[in-house]
Amino acid sequence: MRIGHGYDVHAFDSGDHVTLGGVRIPHTHGVKAHSDGDVLLHALCDALLGALGLGDIGQHFPDSDPRWKGADSRLFLRHCTKLLHEHRYRLVNADLTVLAEAPRLGTHRAQMRANMAADLETTPDRINVKATTCEGLGALGRGEGLACYAVVLLAHAENGTNGHDNDAHRRGNFHRHGR
Ligand code: MG
Repeated sequence: MRIGHGYDVHAFDSGDHVTLGGVRIPHTHGVKAHSDGDVLLHALCDALLGALGLGDIGQHFPDSDPRWKGADSRLFLRHCTKLLHEHRYRLVNADLTVLAEAPRLGTHRAQMRANMAADLETTPDRINVKATTCEGLGALGRGEGLACYAVVLLAHAENGTNGHDNDAHRRGNFHRHGR
């Protein structure tokens, strides 16, 4: 099992929508970003790369590279899924917390989970999206941008679907493995 953590923040800029979890949400501002500025997907990618011990999203997709200008961040997530499979891991679950005074995520959450599940080749029940305001405190509280925290748990492909070592259980030697 491997755990990973990710964080991302983007400042608001002029514009009429933000992209969160691959969902275009109408808003009074856009975000300042090289790519589409999807904080959910950036935090999630960093958590996945962290769990795999493969650095961070900036190393895989440098913002100095014109290829990623205005890029759909779902490309980044699909790249992380490829790495996940190459290293023979799969997602047990991901838990995401968006920090923003606005926009409200409410009605968009199901689509965000569906998008991330599709890109991760898993089911939406493994991906949770939470949202909180910052109670008016600090830059985020003043509505100057939005941020996201992500935590993921990965299981190696040799283990069971839920991250339990089912093979070891079947062999009756779970405790000898000391997991
Ligand atoms: Mg970012």
